[in-house]
Amino acid sequence: MGHAGWPAFVSMLEYKAARYGRTFAEVDRFLTSSQTCSVCWAVDGPEPLSVRTWTCSGCATEHDRDVNASRVVLAAGRKLAGEREAES
Ligand SMILES: [Zn+2]
Repeated sequence: MGHAGWPAFVSMLEYKAARYGRTFAEVDRFLTSSQTCSVCWAVDGPEPLSVRTWTCSGCATEHDRDVNASRVVLAAGRKLAGEREAES
């Protein structure tokens, strides 16, 4: 293989990045990730940002606010991305 494959490879990467970037933006818009339980998906978290930990009333899991929020965004992003892969 010469250099012929390289531009295609780069554009593939850019395409993927754009796709996933858009997915994460959508996830952020639709989900109140810091208030959604990453275990049972109940929207039960605390409103004030000063609250660092909370316990879900749905499944009694104790959450660190930031860790839980990142799990929610990651799981939802993967789900959306997976659905799009299946479509194409
Ligand atoms: Zn829960």
